[in-house]
Amino acid sequence: MDLKKTLSYIISSNIIDNSLLDVGEVIAKKGFNTSRKDCLDVLDIYGVKRLKDFKEKSIKLILFYIKVALKDNIVTNEEIKNIRFLKLLFSIEEGDFTKDKSMSNEVSNIIRTQIYLMYQDDNKIDSQESLHKVNLQEVFGLNYDEFLSLNNNAALDAIERGADWLELDTYISGDEYSKWRKKNELDIEPEDDDSSVLDKRTRHISQKVKDDVWNRDGGECTQCRGVENLEFDHIIPFSEGGANTYRNIQLLCEPCNRSKSNKIG
Ligand SMILES: [Zn+2]
Repeated sequence: MDLKKTLSYIISSNIIDNSLLDVGEVIAKKGFNTSRKDCLDVLDIYGVKRLKDFKEKSIKLILFYIKVALKDNIVTNEEIKNIRFLKLLFSIEEGDFTKDKSMSNEVSNIIRTQIYLMYQDDNKIDSQESLHKVNLQEVFGLNYDEFLSLNNNAALDAIERGADWLELDTYISGDEYSKWRKKNELDIEPEDDDSSVLDKRTRHISQKVKDDVWNRDGGECTQCRGVENLEFDHIIPFSEGGANTYRNIQLLCEPCNRSKSNKIG
């Protein structure tokens, strides 16, 4: 959305008050050539000597611009440039958009809607949408945590609809996911965490390891040298994470194995 056109639209729609209207008109006329002095000259009529005193209202004007620009749910490079220009003109700094409670709510709502739309359309975030997210965060000077929580809520909703995590360009901690699962009373097992690795473990000892251990231990119990009822024993018990490897397997006869198990408890 063109800066001049958008401001003309804002001015004509009577959604702003007098001082804002007049400043908007100056910007609509001069575009990128508007200077702080131009604005101050107009504001002088209203008794405003410093742009600092006009900050709250100028944020409103920028917010109007952003709302109009976002009507198509896209922030174009041109719009980003325009917003940067307006912020620069009125010396808007990081955090200014969220200082005031009602303004902060409005910004949150705008972003929530934008993010929701991004995640909702096809349940994935492409590179353009990724960029859009970065732009939104930058435009509003939002802090990372605030933005992340809005983003993750939308992402979790998308996952609930069946979206693939890998397509969402987001990082969600296991903690957040389990909280969300609890909230949604879902019983989905996460695929790649430690517990499932443990579940996939098997007590199976390969024939190669068995042969090597048999040869190493000379075909007899490593405790009592007995040769009857021999078993392959996990030196570090399987239940404690012991592996089925040559180093961790030994030959024990059944009585020795049972007394070892009893000792371990
Ligand atoms: Zn034995």
